[in-house]
Amino acid sequence: MKEYSEDEFLMLSGIQHFVFCRRQWALIHIEQVWKENYLTVAGELMHENAHDKGMTEKRGNTVITRGMPVYSRVLGVSGECDVVEFHRDDKNGIGIFGWEGKYTVLPVEYKHGELKEEDVLQLTAQAMCLEEMLCCEITYGCIYYGKTRHREKIEFTQERREKVIRLFEEMHDHYKRGYTPKAKKTKGCNSCSLNEICLPKLGNVRSAKEYIEKTLSEEIP
Ligand code: SF4
Repeated sequence: MKEYSEDEFLMLSGIQHFVFCRRQWALIHIEQVWKENYLTVAGELMHENAHDKGMTEKRGNTVITRGMPVYSRVLGVSGECDVVEFHRDDKNGIGIFGWEGKYTVLPVEYKHGELKEEDVLQLTAQAMCLEEMLCCEITYGCIYYGKTRHREKIEFTQERREKVIRLFEEMHDHYKRGYTPKAKKTKGCNSCSLNEICLPKLGNVRSAKEYIEKTLSEEIP
């Protein structure tokens, strides 16, 4: 099985951008362009709230960790889990170094808005990292949505896992080639924080750099 080295790791959270729009992902992760709008700021605040309450706490038979770093050599990614809950279960759980008893593992992601496919795939990728790191099996996790104040249970099906593998393979390929797909206008463009930079109306221009160069060469004969 192919394994990536650490210098090849991509940001795990990039999967949400890639699923939303491959060009958006490339602008952020390859061309290093970023622009905040209301949705990204609201999302950031949700994450800060999830991370700020301390690294690890114990509540009864549950240990809660916040901002836990995760990685996968098989997927070639690294990132952070908002929350990982370890529930004491001596029958079905796994041993954790330095802790008494056995535990099952539950990743929980905090999101603004409503249930979206990109959130589900991001959580699935986190679970796959945790499985690789802890040598365990995780069958489901949860996404807490600030808008509904509700935890959605997310099953880590084979189909979702395969999709995560395919997406990261595609991301690695794009990254290696420095490939930024052309703009294709969709209804998602209205809420995209990069709308003004991406200029989806100019679908025949591939990268922001290319656009600036093209504009300058037209203005300066
Ligand atoms: S404006 Fe549209 S095409 Fe451009 S990055 Fe955003 S979603 Fe993608």
